[in-house]
Amino acid sequence: MLLVGAIAIVAVVLTVQLRAILLGAAQQRIESIGNDIVEQVDRSGVTGTFGEGFQFDQTLALQENLDHWASPTTYLEMDNASGYPLGKSSNMGGERFTPTPLLPPQPPFYTDENIPELGHVLVRTQILDVRSGIMIKIGESLAIYDSTLARVRTLLAIVVVVAAGVVAAGSYALASRALEPIDRLIAAMREIRSDQLDSRVGWSDRADEIGELARTFDAMLERLEAGFSRERQFISDASHELKTPLTIINANAQMLERWADRDPQVRADSLRAIRDESAALAQIVNGMLLLAKAESGDGIPREPVALDAILADAVRSGRPRAEAKSLELNFVSQAAAGQPLVYGDANLLRQLFTNLIDNAIKFTDRGHVDVRLSARNGTAEVDVVDTGTGIDAESLERIFDRFYRTDKSRDRAVPGTGLGLAIVRSITRVHEGSVRASRRPEGGTAFHVSLPTLTSIS
Ligand code: ADP
Repeated sequence: MLLVGAIAIVAVVLTVQLRAILLGAAQQRIESIGNDIVEQVDRSGVTGTFGEGFQFDQTLALQENLDHWASPTTYLEMDNASGYPLGKSSNMGGERFTPTPLLPPQPPFYTDENIPELGHVLVRTQILDVRSGIMIKIGESLAIYDSTLARVRTLLAIVVVVAAGVVAAGSYALASRALEPIDRLIAAMREIRSDQLDSRVGWSDRADEIGELARTFDAMLERLEAGFSRERQFISDASHELKTPLTIINANAQMLERWADRDPQVRADSLRAIRDESAALAQIVNGMLLLAKAESGDGIPREPVALDAILADAVRSGRPRAEAKSLELNFVSQAAAGQPLVYGDANLLRQLFTNLIDNAIKFTDRGHVDVRLSARNGTAEVDVVDTGTGIDAESLERIFDRFYRTDKSRDRAVPGTGLGLAIVRSITRVHEGSVRASRRPEGGTAFHVSLPTLTSIS
């Protein structure tokens, strides 16, 4: 539309220009005749003054004289001051120009007239003699001018219409060609149903932007599929974990129903089992809630948190359990350039270290658990090291997975949910940090947490 509009504007400008040029040529022609006649009047000599002894050379108004200036397209008429014709060129026949009674002085002017026999004429009226007011009217036929202009207008209109047609057809073809692969891509995307996340558009060979879009879409599907599969696994693991205590609670409830009245021992055992299993259930549910919170990322409240105070808290809460097992629990803060501040959620950070310290105590029977804090170059490093059972190389890869517990801890019936380290990993991630575990050559396990620090306070 813009292009057609531009072409139409060019056509209008061209017509206006052409009209001005043609009209200018006609004006020039009659102006030069007018000037020649004025020269002739000057030469013929006018004597006397207006009113007394005035004499205008009347022969100038004779038809022969006027015919001398006339041509098939140029007409001449000489009028007196009241607009009465003194003479006309013979080609005017019985016609005359519209009378314009004038009082001199008056500069030459142009009018546009339509005269029955002569047609469309441009008329120049010029006073020849200031005293008598005699004037010459020279008309130039605009027939050729009109027909030329009409032809050019028709031609330009055709050009505009044809251009519009060509532009419209071209744009349509171009747009269809450009959109065709997008239509095919949309069709391919529509075929992929929500329960078929393993299908792909598969346009790996296309090198253009559409191919890039298809590949990006496939990559997104890949991530979605992995995410969905992780969530499915989580739901299945969670159901499995919840099922065991529920089954035990159910079985003990049935025992109570049958035996509670008759056997006080059964009643006491069943009630204890129900209490223990419901506590385990609550622990799993709490763990899942905490994990969901830690994974919510941006949703957590953040403030500058002094890491040494958080660690001191976590160590303090672990101390009774360490003492119950006669374990040494040490906390050493080695932060050289003041105490590191982490920008994050104090409760989540406390949970992170509580989980690591609890595990260290849980899986250590003899020796000690050391917690060390150091900070350098904008990073706080926390080590939680124990002299416990250690973790075999195969399990080291998986201990951060949700619900993963090593066979050792299952066999020994160590209490736990398998969510503790998954929570640790989520909390470090949401604080843009990292966590890794390693086996100590001398036995035991070392957990190493790195967290970016805000600044240090002295
Ligand atoms: P749990 O609730 O079982 O402790 P976690 O996610 O905290 O769940 O730990 C996962 C598994 O990693 C544990 O079951 C245990 O086998 C192993 N683990 C974690 N911490 C230690 C440690 N300090 N020493 C030995 N094994 C550990």
